[in-house]
Amino acid sequence: MLYSNLSVNDAGHLAIGGIDALDLAERFGTPLYVLDEDMVRENCRTYLTAIGECLPEGSGALYASKALCFKGIYPVVESEGMGVDAVSPGEIYTARAAGFPAERIYFHGTNKTDDDIRYALNAGVGCFVVDNFNELAVLQSEAAKRGVMQRVLLRVTVGLDPHTLAAINTGRVDSQFGIPIETGQAEGFLFEALAQPNLQVDGFHSHIGSQIFEADSFCDQVDIMLRFAVAMRDKFGYVASVFNLGGGFGVRYVESDDQVDIAGNIHAIAEHLSAGCAAAGYPVPRVLFEPGRSIVANAGTTLYTTGGIKTVEGYRDYVTVDGGMTDNPRYALYKSAYTVLNASHADAEPDFTCTIAGRCCESGDRIAEDISMARPERGDVIAVLVTGAYNYAMSMNYNRIPRPALVMVSGGEARLAVRRQTFDDLIACEL
Ligand SMILES: *Cc1c(COP(=O)(O)O)cnc(C)c1O
Repeated sequence: MLYSNLSVNDAGHLAIGGIDALDLAERFGTPLYVLDEDMVRENCRTYLTAIGECLPEGSGALYASKALCFKGIYPVVESEGMGVDAVSPGEIYTARAAGFPAERIYFHGTNKTDDDIRYALNAGVGCFVVDNFNELAVLQSEAAKRGVMQRVLLRVTVGLDPHTLAAINTGRVDSQFGIPIETGQAEGFLFEALAQPNLQVDGFHSHIGSQIFEADSFCDQVDIMLRFAVAMRDKFGYVASVFNLGGGFGVRYVESDDQVDIAGNIHAIAEHLSAGCAAAGYPVPRVLFEPGRSIVANAGTTLYTTGGIKTVEGYRDYVTVDGGMTDNPRYALYKSAYTVLNASHADAEPDFTCTIAGRCCESGDRIAEDISMARPERGDVIAVLVTGAYNYAMSMNYNRIPRPALVMVSGGEARLAVRRQTFDDLIACEL
């Protein structure tokens, strides 16, 4: 199996964290998101252990909430010692509703409205990752009104093009995220920020993209940030104490993807940074990472029930399931590859080539095209693996399809963490 928490049990069914997937489907209904909490914890530990081994005290990892945001995730990442990256007041609200301490939240976003800024200040978030000049001005004025000194990081764009999809590439100069170094504007951004009496500039942030497999891209990012930091020290006498390198570590979705060695990459980045700092006579900053996908993706599995099996003579076979783009829009958005298996016959040969389609009136509503699995019958449970990131978080109610339930499994036990939406939920905001 793709990951060690997945297995085939004596009944020939898929088991997730030791629990029979068919039992989960029966007990909680389908479609169903299953999140293996033990796997999430293991992923957090991989980061924090490696960081503790090779980076300065005070370095750490912030869980990027946008990958999967619901109350139940926060106590898990908090107890593992992670901070949190939030991109909206809604994410801040959810984290705090789950008891997550506001001072460990980093607030991101390209367009934080005046209300957003006030909301986050009132909540007491630890750090703003400031994206632009306009935000800087409003944040200063609101912080002054409250008489607080607000910690900030400045989001800069390093002008890198890692080998990843354009839609999830955020580090190029021409992007709506942050202020570019290459054009000289980041220098003015720092100058402006340092002049604000109620802002304490801890350092710099950049995020180069997502689903990145090589450490090289992160080392290039470190080089550019360090060169900028050294220039700013020489110019303004400012020394950054934090480099936040963002998220982006890749995840294995299908057999042909590499397994990213996260610990190895963190060690490589740390060595690269120390060498660069030594050469420049710059104190090694604390380093923060913001992993989202690599914390939750491989911990998630989506279970569906097979509806129809249809052969379009001379073309292909379709299998329709009781969910689709409404719970997983990633194929529709990015043509993302997934591993799909027949959980009811997980021990059978995957000898049937088919396209998995959802239930929306939308020809793009597909989960995977031309994949191989054991031929299903109506009623069989189908599992789509590695759906923990950007699935529930991106789910929607198109065609008035209620959002699925989410179940967390740990130590062989399953518990409902998000109940399935009802039809009443669908009309709850309608007057
Ligand atoms: C999306 C994002 C992340 C998380 O990226 P992953 O690829 O899920 O690890 C972290 N930081 C920022 C600023 C982001 O936009």
